[in-house]
Amino acid sequence: MSSFDYSALSVDDIRSGLAAGDFKARDIAEAALTCIEAADASINAFLQVTPDAAFAAAEAVDAAVAAGKLDTLGPLAGVPVGFKDNMNLLGTRTTCGSRMLENYESMYTATCVQRVLDAGGLPMGKLNMDEFAFGSSTETSAFGTTKNPWDLERVPGGSSGGSAAAVAAGMTPVTLGSDTGGSIRQPASFCGVVGVKPTYGLVSRYGVVAFGSSLDQVGPFARNVRDAALALNALVGHDDKDCTSQPCSTDFTANLNEGVEGMRIGIVPVFMTAEGLEPEVGEAVLGAIQKLAAAGAEIVEVDLPNAAAAMSAYYVIGPCEAFSNLSRFDSVRYGFRDPGHADLGSQYEASRSGGFGAEARRRIMLGSYLLSAGVYNTYYYPAQQVRTLITDDYRMAFGECDCILAPASPRTAFKFGEISDPATMYLSDIFTISINIAGNGGMSVPLGLGSDSGLPVSAQLICPWFEDEKMLRVAAALEREYGAAPIAPSYADLTASSGEPAPSSDLGGE
Ligand code: GLN
Repeated sequence: MSSFDYSALSVDDIRSGLAAGDFKARDIAEAALTCIEAADASINAFLQVTPDAAFAAAEAVDAAVAAGKLDTLGPLAGVPVGFKDNMNLLGTRTTCGSRMLENYESMYTATCVQRVLDAGGLPMGKLNMDEFAFGSSTETSAFGTTKNPWDLERVPGGSSGGSAAAVAAGMTPVTLGSDTGGSIRQPASFCGVVGVKPTYGLVSRYGVVAFGSSLDQVGPFARNVRDAALALNALVGHDDKDCTSQPCSTDFTANLNEGVEGMRIGIVPVFMTAEGLEPEVGEAVLGAIQKLAAAGAEIVEVDLPNAAAAMSAYYVIGPCEAFSNLSRFDSVRYGFRDPGHADLGSQYEASRSGGFGAEARRRIMLGSYLLSAGVYNTYYYPAQQVRTLITDDYRMAFGECDCILAPASPRTAFKFGEISDPATMYLSDIFTISINIAGNGGMSVPLGLGSDSGLPVSAQLICPWFEDEKMLRVAAALEREYGAAPIAPSYADLTASSGEPAPSSDLGGE
């Protein structure tokens, strides 16, 4: 094996290195484990590292390469991938960042995870998250916070904080996260990486622990747009086990180099003047608009008159669906059981109170109230009507433009404990939530570092239903202006500095 700088490798670099015999998939797995050990002692992105599964997958890739069959391997051949811990992978625990599932062993493998494995990916482990994906900072995980690789005193965003931080620190080139109201795009923005929430229905949700079934969607994190597009190629398509999943034969890499000449990019004026939008984020997004205009795009203003109601609709629909989905954790069939109760009622009560953290309990109680007789017509029904209005707004807007550009998050990464009031935390998602409500695709694209904070800032791109290749094309154009996402500076030479492995953050069972 010749030496190589693992953290700097893109998905294409790994493939060409395998083809040229520069390294084997086994070497890549080893380098990834070394990086994870070195970086994760300070970051805590991984809840579980899976060396055996990674080496087994690497062996299969190496055998195919040795037999001259690299071409038969999928787009992620030899690529280390981490999975948010709400995705089942046989042989691992799937904790959802919750005491409730602390000891839950996956009984099968989620379709999205299986597709990564089928595409030749190396499964490196399971990543930290806000409990059951409720949150915007990964602070609600029962297994400790994940640190932002750009500043260890700051949150990585959430709920897919572990997935974003692992990529930003160079531990793996690709991870998967899930996004119900912004949980891929906001942490991608806080950590300065690419994060894609595909159109609802592009990726199967089978085997991903449900939060809000009509809102949840799985997508990739990566340090460049092409890596994310290659991961999407592996992930998408119909799955018999999820009736909302759609057939898809798009090659998401096909038009990345076409540029934006002649494309109509929509901007939403009320987003740009929204309360709470930090000036440095607003400036960066305006800068991106100018660059797209200079590259030949036509900039048009579009109106989303009902988008302001998205937050209210989401905090009705989301908790109602979460309340229903989380009722399965009853301490009998699944989850933590408080021992020694003589009657079922007190067992339920003690187990659910003990197993769920404060934010999960808040969502469950809210959903239970909102769906109760008499209250349903006041909140849930109007929230669904608002949903239709917002969906129509996007449909109309996309009559006038090919892709919308907006901020991803109103601000850069905040400090641990800085936001303690739930209502303020919920505002983290003001620019992302309406997209889940309408089902469109959305993604975060890094725009470099903010002029005040020196922390990563991003733009969000939003596409018409099932036209995700359009937003990737615009993202690639922005990437040519701003460069691919760098690894956070303190972790940039991880491969070189990882001689002395630090203790891993494994929960203990691997
Ligand atoms: N931050 C939002 C929430 O707490 C979104 C979460 C998500 O997308 N999973 O609901």
